[in-house]
Amino acid sequence: MLIRNQLNSTNIVIAIDGTSASGKSTNARLVAQALDFIYVNTGAMYRTLAWHGLQKNIDVHDPKAVATLCRRWKTTLECVEQTVRLLVDGYYPEKEIRTDAVSEAVPHVAAVAQVRRWMKEKQRECLRFGNLVMEGRDIGTNVFPETDFKFYLDASLAERAKRRAAEGVQENLAARDRRDSQRASAPLMIALGAVVIDNSNLTPEQTSAMILERVRAKLKPA
Ligand code: C5P
Repeated sequence: MLIRNQLNSTNIVIAIDGTSASGKSTNARLVAQALDFIYVNTGAMYRTLAWHGLQKNIDVHDPKAVATLCRRWKTTLECVEQTVRLLVDGYYPEKEIRTDAVSEAVPHVAAVAQVRRWMKEKQRECLRFGNLVMEGRDIGTNVFPETDFKFYLDASLAERAKRRAAEGVQENLAARDRRDSQRASAPLMIALGAVVIDNSNLTPEQTSAMILERVRAKLKPA
C-alpha cells in the first residue's frame, strides 16, 4: 500500500523550498525526471507577475497597485513536457522573467498578501496535472503544509553567489533572501518536518540522490 500524504487527491507533492540559488530548480527537475513527476517552479509564477507589472508600468512597491494588477490579470495554467507554465494573456514569458529588473521587483510583489493568496490557489490547482515536484519558498509551510515530502535546500552565501555568477547574473542574493524571510505573509522558513540539505559542497546529482532516497523510503510499502 502506498503511503500517501493528506491531500484531497491521490497525487503526491514533493515540496522543495530554500534560499535563492540554493539549487532548487536543478534538483527539483532532476527529482521530477527520476520519478516521472510534474515540475512546478513557483518562483517563475511570481516573476511572471512582477514582469507583467513592469510591462504595465505599475509601481511594484505599491501593494495596492500590485493587488489590483493580480486581481485583474488574465492567466492560464498549462502543463507542457511535464512542466507547468503560467501564461499571461496567452503568452509564456520564459526568457523575460529572468532579467535583473524582474529579480529586483519580484520580492516586493511576492510580499503582497493578496498575491500570495492568489498564488497559493493556483499552485494547489496544479494537482490536477498529476504528481508534483514543486519548488519555492513557502511550499512546505503554506501551499502544501499537509505533504509528507518536505525538503529545504541551502548553501553558503559565497557558494550561491558563485553559482549565480557562473550563470552571468550579479545580484544581491542576501538582500532578496532577507526580504523573503522577513515579510509578514508566508515568509521563507524551514517547514516543520522538512529535511534540510546544505549542498555547499554537493553536486546536484548528490543532492537529488539524497532527496530521492528519502522519498523512495517513504513510498516503499510497509
Ligand atoms: O525561485 P526564484 O528565485 O525564481 O523566486 C523569485 C522570487 O519569488 C523569490 O525571491 C521570492 O520573492 C518569490 N517567491 C516566493 N514564494 C515562492 C517562490 C518564489 O515568495 N514560493
